[in-house]
Amino acid sequence: MEKDSTPPHVLIFPLPLQGPVNSMFKLAELLCLAGIHVTFLVTDHIHSRLLRYSDIHSRFNRYPGFRLETISDGLPEDHPRGDKFMELFDSLRMNTKPLFKQLLTSGSLVSDDLPPMSCIIADGIMGFTCDVANEVGIPIIYVRTISACCLWVFFCLPNMIESGEIPFTGEDDLDTPIKSVPGTESFLRRRDLPSFCRSGDLSHPNIQLYKSESEENPRAYGLILNTFEDLEGPILAQMRTFCPNIYTIGPLHTLIKTKLAGELTSSKTSSNSLWEEDRSCITWLDSQSPKSVIYVSFGSLALMTRDQLMEFWHGLVNSKCKFLWVIRPDSVAGNNEIPAEVAEGTKERGYIVGWAPQEEVLAHPSVGGFLTHSGWNSTLESVIEGVPMICWPYFMDQQVNSRFVGEVWKLGLDMKDTCDRVIVEKMVKDLMVERKDEFIKSAEHMAMLGKKSLSEGGSSYCHLNRLIEDIKLM
Ligand code: UDP
Repeated sequence: MEKDSTPPHVLIFPLPLQGPVNSMFKLAELLCLAGIHVTFLVTDHIHSRLLRYSDIHSRFNRYPGFRLETISDGLPEDHPRGDKFMELFDSLRMNTKPLFKQLLTSGSLVSDDLPPMSCIIADGIMGFTCDVANEVGIPIIYVRTISACCLWVFFCLPNMIESGEIPFTGEDDLDTPIKSVPGTESFLRRRDLPSFCRSGDLSHPNIQLYKSESEENPRAYGLILNTFEDLEGPILAQMRTFCPNIYTIGPLHTLIKTKLAGELTSSKTSSNSLWEEDRSCITWLDSQSPKSVIYVSFGSLALMTRDQLMEFWHGLVNSKCKFLWVIRPDSVAGNNEIPAEVAEGTKERGYIVGWAPQEEVLAHPSVGGFLTHSGWNSTLESVIEGVPMICWPYFMDQQVNSRFVGEVWKLGLDMKDTCDRVIVEKMVKDLMVERKDEFIKSAEHMAMLGKKSLSEGGSSYCHLNRLIEDIKLM
């Protein structure tokens, strides 16, 4: 039989938040490079931010088969989406779901140059996309943009509920071991579970959401994960008992750089930022000594109180290490102003920006450590650059990731559930001075394994090829 030569057409629909948009945009680029038509679907809100701050349109122009489509998330423009995730989520299910179906059935996504949709790739937390895909008869592959270790914990929520291990409250003994997440019995404690498990309430909307949405994941044709086998192999083996068809193609941000090597005229890669990057920090880093700076950033959603900000600041200053700190304009609860003493007092030891070109910062030779909220993108970006971490997880998957960073992968220190200047100072000194060699050694080893997985014959390289072949056969 003759093989159909029309390139496949894939619709990619990320969860409308910075992290998922970032990584799924990179997946879109990888598929375009393989000659696949991609329609990238974002909410109007994300679209307007991408237009303002990113170079997304110049990136699109590189790929003739690339198209951007928008859809409403059903919320008013001034709604604080990421901060009220459940409201965003409910609105997606209620308002976006019918629009999504309409978009797929209206014929507007097909034209003379665009073949019919062969496959949908959607964030697996949006289970409604699978309902719609089934209704319109298009195969769907899910992407989860969190770690496999956290997704595995989500998969095991029914086990934990059945065994009575959750829920509990923040007042209970948080060091109690968790026994009903196979493969993690020797190190996982209550405090390492996603923060919503501490609610003391099984009907907590997050428990219900993550339990039901994760139970849905095996309904899809396959599951794409932004991770690599050498990092999460044992957990992936557990997950494959539920979801046999897993494509591990991470770290995506480096895979795309590898694929584009030689095509880009500069070492700067794409920016899908939803905030304006302050590149002056790169000039500041250029003037610092190798591995002398600790980079501090808590991602795009985490909030801190003014007291926590001050504890971090005193701890950083007292450590006597140089620091580069991202303080997002909306990240200090109740007050957007950086206190004058912090702004003034930082000049000697550090540099503060509102948003940094993070991948470039982590790849900079002056950066020797990362004080992070353990978001999965940030974690992978640090892992692949061989930068050890201090983890201060804020919520959701971050509590699980930080335990794996500290206890399983030995890539740094887990500071969860404390925010005290003395501890910040001690951990920064440990990471950057006292135990520097030990952490650098394990971080560089893992970075080497990560890069190997992306090179020809490596696990992520092969899983991407398999994904492309599977899409072509759909
Ligand atoms: N990021 C950035 N500049 C910053 C802070 C973060 O470009 O100053 C990017 C970072 O590189 C990562 C993403 O924002 O790709 C944050 O995603 P992550 O999963 O780590 O955390 P989230 O923001 O979802 O909590």
